[in-house]
Amino acid sequence: MAAKLLEGKAIAEKLKAVVRQEVDLLRAKQNRAPKLIALQIGENASSAVYVKAQRKVAESLGIEYWLETLPDTISQAEAEQKISDFNKDHSITAIIVQLPVPKGIDAKKLANTIWPAKDAEGMHPQNLGRILLGNYKIGPCTAMAVMELLESTGEKLYGKEAVIVGHSEIVGKPLALMLLNKLATTTVCHIATGERGVLADHVKRAEILVVAVGKAGIIKGDWVKPGAVVVDVGINRVGDKIVGDVEFEAASQRASYITPVPGGVGPITTTILMRNTVELFKISF
Ligand code: NAP
Repeated sequence: MAAKLLEGKAIAEKLKAVVRQEVDLLRAKQNRAPKLIALQIGENASSAVYVKAQRKVAESLGIEYWLETLPDTISQAEAEQKISDFNKDHSITAIIVQLPVPKGIDAKKLANTIWPAKDAEGMHPQNLGRILLGNYKIGPCTAMAVMELLESTGEKLYGKEAVIVGHSEIVGKPLALMLLNKLATTTVCHIATGERGVLADHVKRAEILVVAVGKAGIIKGDWVKPGAVVVDVGINRVGDKIVGDVEFEAASQRASYITPVPGGVGPITTTILMRNTVELFKISF
């Protein structure tokens, strides 16, 4: 079976159209637009790429985007004070801390000083807790992007065997809760699963397989259950190529749907960041 490609760009464009329409309506009603502020500490090439992409998407959707760059000599306390100032500023409706941050800055502690009502990345414990309760509009961008990809297939998640490989706080763990909320029978694999030598056993059962590890080819193509939906979150540089965590060619002969890498999850995440920003704007009045 040759799998259908789950391309993120087309899904991102559909999501953008919805977000743009919402921003237009909200602006007409409130006479102002959502405003996302990105806090960057020091200059960093990869952060600059994200900022450029975020600004482009934000502005195309009518969202104000503002970058605040602090010197890399700043202390943790001073950076946290800056976030506190943004929290209290009514003109700012959403905040994101750009990664990476310089050594000596605790990025998680810094991000947790963002008020939940201004948390564009959906990573504040209170916002993560809402996912646990199944009552959420915003969430971690990558996990939310995976859900959009899965929903785009039209396949029911109810009762399906879903296997996630990787249990990070930004992808695997929140995604496990999101899938559980849809009543998928959800298994989460991690380093101990690999060490015990049973990773293949779990993957072979998966009707929905999501892999977010960061190791090229860790999932062998012949482990993929025929007809499975495969979402490969991994990004790995191999020589001059970017590849995922799943052996793409072999897996796509067995899967019903599969994401390309690059071009699967990645193009959707920035749009989800903007959707989160709009959801936060709605609760700011
Ligand atoms: P991470 O925090 O390093 O998490 C990787 C996970 O994989 C951990 O839970 C780790 O378990 C698990 N793992 C490691 N070796 C394993 C093995 N042999 N068997 C089973 N599980 C294993 O990474 P992340 O931030 O979630 O990102 C994962 C990948 O997704 C990376 O390639 C990253 O670049 C990519 N990513 C892509 C996007 C996008 O927009 N496309 C966004 C975010 C991330 P332990 O923690 O127990 O070691």
